[in-house]
Amino acid sequence: MKVVILGGGSAGTSAALELRKRDKDCEILILEKTSYNEYSPCSLPYVLCGEIKDFENIMLFTDDEYLQNNIILKKNCNIKSIETNNNKVIYEFEGNDLNEQYDYLIYALGSIPILPPIENIENTNHYFLRNLDDAKKLKEVLHENKKIIILGAGLIGIEAAYAAIKNKMQVTLIERENQLLKNTLDSDMSIKLEENLKNLGISIIKNTIIIKADENKLYSENNSYEYDVLVIATGLSPNANIAKDSGINVNHGIIVDSSYRTNIPNVFASGDCVEIERMNNNADCVMLGSIAYQSARIIANNILENNNNTNNSDNYNNNKSSNNRKPVLGASIAKLGNIIIASTGSTLEQAKNSRINAYGMIIEGSTRSGYHPDAKRIIIKLIADSDYNLLGAQIIGGEDVSGRINLCSLAISEKIKLDKLAFLETVYNPGSAPINEPISTCAKMLIRKIDVINSAK
Ligand SMILES: Cc1cc2nc3c(=O)[nH]c(=O)nc-3n(C[C@H](O)[C@H](O)[C@H](O)COP(=O)(O)OP(=O)(O)OC[C@H]3O[C@@H](n4cnc5c(N)ncnc54)[C@H](O)[C@@H]3O)c2cc1C
Repeated sequence: MKVVILGGGSAGTSAALELRKRDKDCEILILEKTSYNEYSPCSLPYVLCGEIKDFENIMLFTDDEYLQNNIILKKNCNIKSIETNNNKVIYEFEGNDLNEQYDYLIYALGSIPILPPIENIENTNHYFLRNLDDAKKLKEVLHENKKIIILGAGLIGIEAAYAAIKNKMQVTLIERENQLLKNTLDSDMSIKLEENLKNLGISIIKNTIIIKADENKLYSENNSYEYDVLVIATGLSPNANIAKDSGINVNHGIIVDSSYRTNIPNVFASGDCVEIERMNNNADCVMLGSIAYQSARIIANNILENNNNTNNSDNYNNNKSSNNRKPVLGASIAKLGNIIIASTGSTLEQAKNSRINAYGMIIEGSTRSGYHPDAKRIIIKLIADSDYNLLGAQIIGGEDVSGRINLCSLAISEKIKLDKLAFLETVYNPGSAPINEPISTCAKMLIRKIDVINSAK
């Protein structure tokens, strides 16, 4: 069996490794456009802000490791098209068009930054933060006291802003929405993040649409904003055009079933380029490394089981639950020095937009006993429906955020009701965890709020 993987990033490489773990003999070939081995895109902001010393430190695989795993990584290959009828990929290598036959194909070409509709933007010297080359170029211009504008206050935008402030630049973050992190935080939590960013020295301009750009200035309807460095972080688009042109069904991203199979039975797709079902929401592209990695096991299982079945009975349908993805929560986390921001599930606004009777509660707590010198502030928002089902959680805190948000993800996906979180047996030790676990406190207060609303009905 020969598996060809398009794209040697997070989704492609993890799929290759999972396949190799389960099958010692299949042929695995990755075709990758750049000259890089797999690296961690999620670590790019850490190199820019200086927390990780060098780009060398975020390379995940050496040439030897590919060899040891018997995975062939062919670099500098630009995929051009797929002939799904003939099981063939056409790609450009050193100026020549070459092709490769496959039994199974995994399409994992990631995403590309969106250039917003701003007059003259294409003539400005702007930067992105999507891949290693982008980050290397950006690092060259992060100079003390220079003015930098970051356009777009999503996760990548705020990470870029933090990196710039750590490089002692004059940083302005411009966002067209009325809040930061619109997709993951409600406005009341976003305000708390904003306070933190302002305290670091980042200027934040919201509700502002940039309509025109020149070499050193951006213009909105009423204002202009000077810059030395311009970073565009206004969103990513799934890199799905090659799939679309090859007869693979694409909506916003590539359409896959719960086993990451496209409409072509021996073509799978994963990572930023696919759209998947979200809990309480429609299908959308959930561009997270965590999801890309988790898809690898499901794809590997399906390819190997399909291959065995095909050899025996030509049956492509396998519905084992371990081979199928559940709707995703989109759980995400970012760390800006001492500020950690995480969220999972729906925001209150998203839940209400989905016509759910949803309620939210915010509390402020402490990560250890309040009197402990290392205790950090933590702000928690829980969102639940009128039946006390947890729908979402948002946390901003100084430490221990990931464990709490993962607990909330478990509660949402397993439909664990608020009372179980409220009366959970939690650990206590003044130097490690407070006597009142903030998640439990927040859950108790939200139960009370919903009780009052339900009894008034
Ligand atoms: C700055 C930053 C920070 C992030 N932080 C986090 C985080 O903290 N947590 C998290 O979960 N996610 C994070 N993400 C998102 C995460 O990195 C992506 O979701 C993940 O890398 C997607 O994996 P992928 O394989 O789909 O795309 P990629 O890893 O980008 O891989 C796609 C590969 O395809 C190659 N390619 C593209 N076009 C072609 C072509 N025509 N021919 C051949 N090869 C091609 C590319 O060169 C690339 O190697 C972050 C992303 C960025 C940019």
